Amino acid sequence: MNKTPATKDSLKTRDSMRWWIKLFLQPLLLLIFLVTTFVVLGVLQQIGLLTDTNTPLVGDLDNQTEDSTSYICPMMCTPPSLKPGRCPVCAMELVAAASGNNQADGRSIVIDSVARRVAGIETVTVEKIMAHHAIESIGELEYDQGGRKTLAAYVDGRIEQLYADYTGVKVSEKDTLAVLYSPKLYSAQVELLLALRAREKSQDGTLARVAEINENLQRSVRQRLIELGMTKNQIDAVERTGRADSRLPLLAPTNGTVVKKAVVEGQYVSEGDTIYELADLSNVWLMLQLFPEDAALVRYGVKVRTELQSLPGQYFDGRVAFIDPLVDPRTRTVGVRVVIQNPDGILRIGDYATATIEVPLGSADAMYDPELVGQWISPRHPHIMSDGPGNCSICAMPLVPAITFGFTDDPSLNKGVLVVPRDVVLSAGNKSVVYVESEPGHFEIRNVVLGPVVEDGIVIADGLQAGEEVARKGNFLIDSQMQLVGNPSLIDPTIATSVTDVSRTTVKPINLGDLPPIGPMSVPPSDGSAPDDLGSPTQTMRLAEPSFSSGEENGPSIPPVGEMKLADPPAMSVPGVAP
Ligand SMILES: [Zn+2]
Ligand SMILES: [Zn+2]
Repeated sequence: MNKTPATKDSLKTRDSMRWWIKLFLQPLLLLIFLVTTFVVLGVLQQIGLLTDTNTPLVGDLDNQTEDSTSYICPMMCTPPSLKPGRCPVCAMELVAAASGNNQADGRSIVIDSVARRVAGIETVTVEKIMAHHAIESIGELEYDQGGRKTLAAYVDGRIEQLYADYTGVKVSEKDTLAVLYSPKLYSAQVELLLALRAREKSQDGTLARVAEINENLQRSVRQRLIELGMTKNQIDAVERTGRADSRLPLLAPTNGTVVKKAVVEGQYVSEGDTIYELADLSNVWLMLQLFPEDAALVRYGVKVRTELQSLPGQYFDGRVAFIDPLVDPRTRTVGVRVVIQNPDGILRIGDYATATIEVPLGSADAMYDPELVGQWISPRHPHIMSDGPGNCSICAMPLVPAITFGFTDDPSLNKGVLVVPRDVVLSAGNKSVVYVESEPGHFEIRNVVLGPVVEDGIVIADGLQAGEEVARKGNFLIDSQMQLVGNPSLIDPTIATSVTDVSRTTVKPINLGDLPPIGPMSVPPSDGSAPDDLGSPTQTMRLAEPSFSSGEENGPSIPPVGEMKLADPPAMSVPGVAP
């Protein structure tokens, strides 16, 4: 019985030891297994037996041989795969991407003929053509202000008769429009007759000085009658007949149309009151509002083709008569006045008209207009032109050669512009790129400056040369491949330059708007903090060191990456890089 407690104690001790061993043995074995696995994997990777077949790292494509073509999803759902097949996300057929050697210059990519056929890449030749930039605008027809006349009462009186008694009636110069009864005019005429009689008497041998006074009196009364609205012929008639008339015919001052009748028959009018307003409708004005950049292409005398809202299908040609020297601060437009001839009177004031101004591109110095070759035009009325010198029939100013206003008689001065179809250009924001096939299958990214859109496509102001081949169809695929291999692409055409231009890389302020719109940031900040101060202008990011690389110098698969600018969108996610 003495033994029993000791035995019990030793049994208890053994049990607790077993319990402890049981508790630690399994995790310990697991730990040893894991460590061994990691070591084996590390060794295998270091001696090159193990490669990451699915997701090559940034820059890894440089080390691939030409046999190892990667396959990408046309929609870029997943990173490139080394095996052909279908995209696991969108199930589209993967397309062979360029192999690593092809992007040695960092600006281009090689697409083999098979991939090219699958992607449907087509090219088109850049051509230099005579293109016109069509400026289109809508405006309203207005009166030619130069042809407007007001017929006003020069003297108090009463309208006895209105001959032109409705608006819109066409009148000719010197037509009698109305008759004004005016006692004041009558007394002035009587004065004239008295002065005339006195002068006739004084000529019968009285003093020469008295005759002179009477002559002056007659002259001053005549002048007063002119001021009261009588014409020289009407005054002559009074002198000839010797009869004063209290009724004064009011004559049309010009050919035109009555656009306003301000009085009715029997109405009393005071000096200065408007009786009629006349307008010359043989020319009308079309008032346009152009954007300043369009107005800059327009010059005096340029032909304008117009189509009226009320007369669809009929075209009326006019010419630019005036370009406002100011930009309207409210509308940010420039007023342009076009004068259109209206001999048949079918253009109606107030009608809307669509105007098209075709400006030849590539002829900044002089514009060729076949209708103006060898012509002299009026400096104020561009529709008045002649084969030689002369005077304007409207303003009597001397005509000047059309070349004075920037026109040329030589059509060869128009050199033409480079035009490509619109789908050649890939644009994002204010960046535009095209892909030039510099050698067969060799597509090079090119930043371009766009000109205006023309009928045949879009003008390339800078960045291309005539005769170059540019990708038209499939250029989005080329661009996505450029992006995948880390070359400059549409999203950031500046990657290539920012690598060498260090100052620009670090000084460029980081804008939240520059961040990629889609895709998670897979590059963590070096200090582990959340990147909440994105506004910092010089913040840079550094890739964390890979977890199982034994050293950067010997690491076979992770080349030095260097600093990555936060504003640069990640070309692809970087798996295998632990935060
Ligand atoms: Zn996909
Ligand atoms: Zn003129």
